[in-house]
Amino acid sequence: MPALSVIKYGDPILRRKTAPVAAVTDATRHREDMLETMYEESGMGLAANQVGLDMNFMVTDISHVEEDEYPRMFVNPEIVDREGSTDLEEGCLSVPEIRATITRAEKVLLHYQDEDGADREDWFDGLLSRVIQHEVDHLNGILFTDYLTPAKRGLINKRLAEIAATGAPSTGIIL
Ligand SMILES: [Zn+2]
Repeated sequence: MPALSVIKYGDPILRRKTAPVAAVTDATRHREDMLETMYEESGMGLAANQVGLDMNFMVTDISHVEEDEYPRMFVNPEIVDREGSTDLEEGCLSVPEIRATITRAEKVLLHYQDEDGADREDWFDGLLSRVIQHEVDHLNGILFTDYLTPAKRGLINKRLAEIAATGAPSTGIIL
């Protein structure tokens, strides 16, 4: 069993902007449980509100894809600049069995505090940039399905309603 349970589409906490974290230690005490839950669910990123915490922080780990990566925590993250544009298929632990190609920035400049409380501003690219943009959206109440065209949204509305009702859609889909 994961340490925490992942909240699914339909819960209003996924639609609210999370509260700023006043002290980094308030976030770090959830770090291990968040990472464990993310690994159990085979995710690459997890936002605090996905496990019911109204706090502006997230964890990522893409080390299974990129060798030099490691588990990271970003507290009070804010994207302050973006460069380029790229398409990639995304999924979401809160929106199970629905995948869609989404256009996002190629690189992002992120302002945040790290798990030691240091104030940082770093550029990220590649897969980590993608994961960061997805998770920062979560912390602001935005889901990847919000970017779909009305026509594609029409294809998943029934599935979203099923997730809200039962936690899973009757069939998966890749858009
Ligand atoms: Zn997600």
